[in-house]
Amino acid sequence: MMSRKYRVRFAPSPTGDLHVGNARTALFNWLFAKHYGGRFILRIEDTDQERTSRIFERNLLEDLKWLSLYWDEGPEKGGEFGPYHQIERLPLYSTYLKKLIADERVYPCYCTEEELEAERLTLLSMKMMPRYMGECRNLTDSERKSLETKGRNAAFRFKVKPGSIEFDDLIRGSMKFEGEAIGDFIIVRSNGIPSYNFAVVIDDHLMEITHVIRGEDHLSNTAIQILLYGALGFTPPSFAHHSLILGRDRSKLSKRHGSVSVREFRKKGILPKALLNYLSLLGGSLGEGKEFASLDEIIDMFSLERAGKSGAIFDESKLKWLNAMYIRDCDVETLIELLTPFLKKAGYDPDLLDHTWLHQVVDAVKDNIVTLNEISGYIDMFVDEKYHVSREAAEILRGNTVAEILKALHEVLTQSEISRKNFYSTLIHSVREKTGLKAKSILMPLRAAVTGRTSGPELEKIFSILGKESILKRLEQARQFMEM
Ligand code: GLU
Repeated sequence: MMSRKYRVRFAPSPTGDLHVGNARTALFNWLFAKHYGGRFILRIEDTDQERTSRIFERNLLEDLKWLSLYWDEGPEKGGEFGPYHQIERLPLYSTYLKKLIADERVYPCYCTEEELEAERLTLLSMKMMPRYMGECRNLTDSERKSLETKGRNAAFRFKVKPGSIEFDDLIRGSMKFEGEAIGDFIIVRSNGIPSYNFAVVIDDHLMEITHVIRGEDHLSNTAIQILLYGALGFTPPSFAHHSLILGRDRSKLSKRHGSVSVREFRKKGILPKALLNYLSLLGGSLGEGKEFASLDEIIDMFSLERAGKSGAIFDESKLKWLNAMYIRDCDVETLIELLTPFLKKAGYDPDLLDHTWLHQVVDAVKDNIVTLNEISGYIDMFVDEKYHVSREAAEILRGNTVAEILKALHEVLTQSEISRKNFYSTLIHSVREKTGLKAKSILMPLRAAVTGRTSGPELEKIFSILGKESILKRLEQARQFMEM
């Protein structure tokens, strides 16, 4: 017998930029599919037409692709379970609504927003949990007619029976909710648009989803959805609710904690691989102490239970540390490609630059840059027109042996022919001989004079990229600076 293939889905509502928390949900679904050889489906939950936008959707697809979380079925890709936009599935929801009406599992509700708000406030003032108390549950046909003739449009509410709703969560174990606390909930609004819970149950069923993996903020929705599965005669999928990403103060990660969207990290120059790696390991998902893993390893080691248990605190500095490692390990040509948009933003068009020069520069600075956008500060260091002396470097240049050191370097460069091969070592050796100073005392003044800064890539690499002419020009400027 062929085992049924696992089918999981990521079902975002495009109402904003992809939050790293949602990206993590997408990642868990994707990893689960890859681990078990299943299928990863992307479904766009766009029934709230006021809040969703095409631009957010386009960005969302772009961000998922950037993270290489490609989907097997969904927008742009198609598939036999489409359409994959909820707004194109309205006729399906209305078929199932009719079934529930015929089975008397739902009833029309004519309450207005104001009436519902008043009920909510009354319950709160009585210290009772706000929920719908069933005002329209037992209306007679003639009462319904009369409300309709008054121009009231009906929403449809599901009749919740008292009693408990139980399910086994693959991450959190056995879960229990009380029907009484839920109250009759809306499945189709008075404008004919289905509620999230109704649409999601029909879609997950029709798309043959086997595992619903999402954040724990959906746990109470799952209880509601289980009632709908029962009423519609559908078998529920397995559920797994993972913990959410938290900020340092252990509250749900939000904008006030700093950058939270995939887009923001991308703009800063975080590599997709670093972000994926970080989101995979967050909260000890790969096992205690494991911090660095290739995507293949991550797929291999992925376990839902381990991935989703404890609240995971988002630490941007750790993400950056990981990013720096990825940059350091990246081969120069790939890095140039990744850097291209950042170079352009900094005013350098890689197509117009001498490629050998660019290769050397990127090779020299890759150990120093933590995020790709830092390239702008570093590449300037190699361009004579951008030469300037920082305050710290100026301080160094005021040292009392500096004039002597720079004079020695100037002499070696102008009085002898130095082979390119031993350029740096010959220069350092000669300056030391001429000044009688130790290497330690001459390196910082040389760095300050030649780069205008007190830190940066290895001086040897800088010298060999700059070459004689450029160094001489800079010495000239540094000297003027000293005279100031
Ligand atoms: N559209 C819902 C959300 O973005 C989907 C939740 C679910 O996975 O069912 O939160």
